[in-house]
Amino acid sequence: MNTDSSEFHLGVVGQLDQLIASLPPGEMLRRELLDLRMEVAEQEEMIIEARQAIEKMDQIIKKLSSPANRIGTFLSAANLETAQIVVAGSDYFCNCDPRVEMRSLRRGTRVLVNEAYVIVGDLGYDRTGPVTKVSELLGPDRLRVGTEHGVQSLVLHRSDALMDAKLKAGDEVRVDSNFKVAVEVLAQPHSDEYFLDSVPELPWEKVGGQQEALHAIRDAIELPLLRPDLFRRFDHQTPKGFLLHGPPGCGKTLIGKATAYNLTHQLQKQTGQEMREYFMHIKGPEILNMWVGESERMVREIFSTAREKRKEGYLPFLFIDEAESILGTRRATRHSSILSTLVPMFCTEMDGIESLNQVVIILASNRADLIDPAVLRPGRIDRKIKVNRPNREGAREIFRIYLTPNLPYDPALVREKGTAAEAADALVEKMIDLSFSHRPENRFLSITLRSGKREILYRSDLISGAIISSIVERAKGLAIKRAIAGNEDEGISESDLRLSFEAEYSENDIFPPTDITEDWLQLIDYDSENVVKISPIRAGTEKRMVSHVI
Ligand code: ADP
Repeated sequence: MNTDSSEFHLGVVGQLDQLIASLPPGEMLRRELLDLRMEVAEQEEMIIEARQAIEKMDQIIKKLSSPANRIGTFLSAANLETAQIVVAGSDYFCNCDPRVEMRSLRRGTRVLVNEAYVIVGDLGYDRTGPVTKVSELLGPDRLRVGTEHGVQSLVLHRSDALMDAKLKAGDEVRVDSNFKVAVEVLAQPHSDEYFLDSVPELPWEKVGGQQEALHAIRDAIELPLLRPDLFRRFDHQTPKGFLLHGPPGCGKTLIGKATAYNLTHQLQKQTGQEMREYFMHIKGPEILNMWVGESERMVREIFSTAREKRKEGYLPFLFIDEAESILGTRRATRHSSILSTLVPMFCTEMDGIESLNQVVIILASNRADLIDPAVLRPGRIDRKIKVNRPNREGAREIFRIYLTPNLPYDPALVREKGTAAEAADALVEKMIDLSFSHRPENRFLSITLRSGKREILYRSDLISGAIISSIVERAKGLAIKRAIAGNEDEGISESDLRLSFEAEYSENDIFPPTDITEDWLQLIDYDSENVVKISPIRAGTEKRMVSHVI
């Protein structure tokens, strides 16, 4: 329009210019024509400005009165021009404006659609929207979500952005506003990071006084793991793990880790392939104290993490501590409603594991009698292995594990014995005598039985690997303090160990601080039915002073 009017403008003004030029100078008409030309030019200018203003107004009115574009979710392209989208919950097969590159649209991105439901713009992925939990993976491109707490269950597509994402049941995903596509995985504390525990170098020799238990473990799982071919040939059922039971501090966790360390090493040696353990340390009560519904999610997630890690080449170990708290019979706990779902769920998950070549499950408990028999059925965890308190010989082995010849010992003792190794041996023997003698100071518990009989338990009846390692650690602490005070040459002495021994029995938090019989019953191997009362035999002031010093 602009050009037209300027042509017109040029036309009239130009014609006038030609006319004026053709008139001889001094002609009267020439003067009038010049005035006219100026007037025409001015008016033309005004007309152009007015037209431009009208045009602008037109545009504004059009913008204000045109309907808003809808926003939909792109699902897939049927061909180069047609796409499947969903807008406000309804599906459409629609055309695409040629100015929008259909190939660049991704499943799950938002698209602008006009009144005719033609895609006219690409808005990319939404950054907000509802969040839900994955309950099942359906093939490579679909997910089932939201079955917990009665929320309707839905099947969603994975967005293009999530096609390669490692998802598993329990993950939280953000969903597009049309509830068709999962578009983002939200970070949350996954069981893998949450429960992963490190396994130090732990050859079997670092577990003292547990020959029988170690023998049983090696029998139960080493062979099936290292010779699965034989077990298949004889159609012999392999266990999926084992239950370690026994009093606290006697090495159940240590044995669990040693199993992980040694089996992985043996497998690595046998196959020549790089193999690492993946040790998940699960504390039963932690799972139990989760929000309603979360315990179940965690159990599912733990198993799915373990399977995932197996695929990644790790050998996963599920070590479930205080297993009776989540896998106990109903009468075992107050949380019977949670347990009624956890036990069957755990059994189903376990049945889904083919053998311990996939995942090794280790349960640990002080109260194996409370574990639901369904968990301990053949084909599940059918090996029960007792981890006993160390006897005299066992305690000697454990002291030797911690009092190694490379440590600095009391120089007088080393001189007397000849070498550090012999000094260490002498200290071990002293400690064994100290721990196992039935001297009055070692009396620890008085037990009144239903029959009226009274029995005395000595410190050695409650000794454990944890106590021994702790005694040695305390003694090292005393020697270090002396070294800091300037006596650099002094090493661990008999007196350090004696003081530590006393302190340990009065302070170790394995021992209940109260006189409540129930609490003490957990630590001893007596049938609760037969025991009327357990009273700790408190030492006099001498003991308290010693513990204060340390
Ligand atoms: P539990 O799981 O039976 O309660 P732990 O395995 O946690 O006992 O033992 C705690 C610590 O005590 C271990 O980390 C280890 O240092 C020491 N310990 C326990 N038993 C033994 C053992 N048999 N041999 C060597 N150390 C032991």
